[in-house]
Amino acid sequence: MPANKKLLMLPGDGIGPEVMGEVKRVIDWMDKRRTVSFDITEGLVGGSAYDAHGTPLADETMNEALGVDAVLLGAVGGPKWETLPFEVQPERGLLRLRKEMDLFANLRPAVVFDALAEASTLKLDVVKGLDIMIVRELTGGIYFGDPRGIETLPDGQRRGINTQVYTTNEIRRVARVGFELARKRSNRLCSAEKANVMEAGVLWREEVTKLHEEEFSDVELTHMYADNAAMQLVRNPKQFDVIVTDNLFGDILSDEASMCTGSLGMLPSASLGEADSSGCRHAMYEPVHGSAPDIAGQGKANPLATLLSFGMCLRYSFDMMDDADLIDQAVQNVLNAGLRTADIMEAGKKEISTAEMGEALLAELDKLAA
Ligand code: NAD
Repeated sequence: MPANKKLLMLPGDGIGPEVMGEVKRVIDWMDKRRTVSFDITEGLVGGSAYDAHGTPLADETMNEALGVDAVLLGAVGGPKWETLPFEVQPERGLLRLRKEMDLFANLRPAVVFDALAEASTLKLDVVKGLDIMIVRELTGGIYFGDPRGIETLPDGQRRGINTQVYTTNEIRRVARVGFELARKRSNRLCSAEKANVMEAGVLWREEVTKLHEEEFSDVELTHMYADNAAMQLVRNPKQFDVIVTDNLFGDILSDEASMCTGSLGMLPSASLGEADSSGCRHAMYEPVHGSAPDIAGQGKANPLATLLSFGMCLRYSFDMMDDADLIDQAVQNVLNAGLRTADIMEAGKKEISTAEMGEALLAELDKLAA
């Protein structure tokens, strides 16, 4: 029997606890039926942590996050906490986790489930079967570079400054994640930057090319200017497999790619840190959506993004590929059966609640495992 996997669950605020509740049921199902067991601890983050401890992330929770194999987070924030001082806003809890766990690689898959292909604003033949992965550098670049700020010039004008800055190591470690992912998928990596107009882009391209030659020459590498990548993502997204890019361009390209799928309630994500000598790394998995205060407490939230995030956790932290496939298949079957939460509802389908979606998934898992 393999050692138990340590998982810290941080449901957060708004619909976070509701969607996490359904994921817990799936985890219980796995605990009962599979050979692996999870050591689960639960903690507070965001507004709920502020209400309990006066901080959006208590030090004990932070330490726990550093000690587990993976963190699964729901969502943080909501109107109740919007007027709090900046340093105790719910999002600060999330940012502290990302920073102290040094989660530099953000993985955002854009997968179009056949049953939902019509939900995209793009033409059916452009998105049907889409399965791409954007790897965004998350802890460097223009969002963190110095100098930064707003200054007043002698003539009274004001000037806003941000600095795009990357080091060799920052580029290589995120590119390595991209190459390794490509190897597990269709073996193609596209690196996006603006080497035509930015020195940081020239360095990015040079370092990715060097790493490719040194360690990953079996992977097909292409380079693309980020503006062209943005255009290609809506023209023909299926030309891509894995895209690796910096923090700023990744922010934009990953949002663009995810909207090819048309449904916020279906989008998972992973954020990974550096691997140690045994290949273990800090990791946090969370849905892309927020705490959806407009529907919180109404049983309307779609739990699939959080469940698919747990699926990514099985795949990338626990190396449990069969179980991750099982979850993906269960989601697909439930959608094929015409069951929908309100956010993905279409004519002719059956609208169900958050808990009913959880039940449908468990029934599907039972069938698949039979
Ligand atoms: P949001 O993602 O919470 O909601 C946007 C819209 O999508 C809403 O209409 C909501 O009802 C719907 N929606 C989102 N997730 C859904 C789901 N799983 N099922 C069904 N419908 C869903 O974004 P927002 O409204 O801009 O932000 C609300 C709060 O969440 C804010 O406090 C914001 O700061 C916070 N937020 C947190 C995160 C995070 O925790 N990672 C991310 C984004 C926003």
